[in-house]
Amino acid sequence: MTTFKVPFADLYAQYLSVKDEIDSAIAQVIRSSAFIRGPMVTEFEAGFAEKMGVRHCVSCANGTDALYIALRALGVGAGDEVIVPAHSWISTSASVTQAGGSVVFADTDGFTYTIDPSRIEEKITSRTVGIVPVHLYGQPADMDAVMAIARRHGLWVLEDCAQAHLARFGGRSVGTFGSVAAFSFYPGKNLGAMGDGGALLTNDQTLAEQMARLARHGGLIKGEHVIEGINSRLDGLQAAILSVKLRHLATWTLRRQRVATEYSRLLAGIEGLLLPQVAAGREHVYHLYVVGHARRDELAQYLSSHGIQTVINYPVALPFLPAYTRLRHRPEDFPDAHSNQSRVLSLPMFAEITDAQISMVAEAVRGFAA
Ligand SMILES: *Cc1c(COP(=O)(O)O)cnc(C)c1O
Repeated sequence: MTTFKVPFADLYAQYLSVKDEIDSAIAQVIRSSAFIRGPMVTEFEAGFAEKMGVRHCVSCANGTDALYIALRALGVGAGDEVIVPAHSWISTSASVTQAGGSVVFADTDGFTYTIDPSRIEEKITSRTVGIVPVHLYGQPADMDAVMAIARRHGLWVLEDCAQAHLARFGGRSVGTFGSVAAFSFYPGKNLGAMGDGGALLTNDQTLAEQMARLARHGGLIKGEHVIEGINSRLDGLQAAILSVKLRHLATWTLRRQRVATEYSRLLAGIEGLLLPQVAAGREHVYHLYVVGHARRDELAQYLSSHGIQTVINYPVALPFLPAYTRLRHRPEDFPDAHSNQSRVLSLPMFAEITDAQISMVAEAVRGFAA
């Protein structure tokens, strides 16, 4: 195993910063044996809903299940088309297929990397039922434009908030625009468990109950199965850990934003390097700090040889993955996603990164460009 001077993320450093709180939360779950459902899960659901300013939170096993459960609750079935951005993690599109619908991709833009609203309407047909905008890397998609299109065509909106806890658009939290929002608590996400976890937020009580049923074998009371559901639950240990981390999320988010500001200051003016750009009115929470470079693979290799770990999110845009060869897409169908896939590089980003590490990364990037 290579050890990096600057790792891409450092979950152990985060644990150490809140060790006492985490250890006592874990001990409490073990002491009460409340491993599945129970007070810790209820407490986290209530706390997360309150922090986000949404009426209902339904927890589940992971972010992928959250998307799937939302799509099923929204009634997606055979022949229904759902529009998703061409560049995201595969859960965004795979969950549509899993729910029984058909994936329709729309290009992202070369500026915010989120779905380009000007390319959504050309994808709408009589079979379109909804849009799944992704707040990719932590920057909100253009929710005014997405919601306006949805209203005009009578479509629902499911927000994929897996990378965007606490991000804001026009001063309003992402996850509060659409009918429902899906969150992931995968360990590396801005709010991460020590295992898998996910949640759904909605203000619609009927939808919330249907999603809870789907996640819990089709019923809310033991022995009751009004529909066929799945088994997708957040466990007590993860819920207790997430409740602790939720208390620190705002502080950690602020630190991520400061790290991004510092990176952007130190990396300004480097020939050929595209820095993250934030559109007006959007608050980016920097799940990832993504730069662009025409010689991206060489830059990644150079940084690695200087002890800096980077990641590519994501090296192949969704329409060009083997999983979607059936759709026969060509690069010119999604020109921005196609050009972004070979340019994007995510630099180390976590709340506990030191100023010295930030400087080390910036100096190495400058060294590559020189
Ligand atoms: C992480 C992620 C998911 C899936 O979450 P899991 O908890 O890993 O299942 C979905 N969409 C996006 C954009 C993600 O980044």
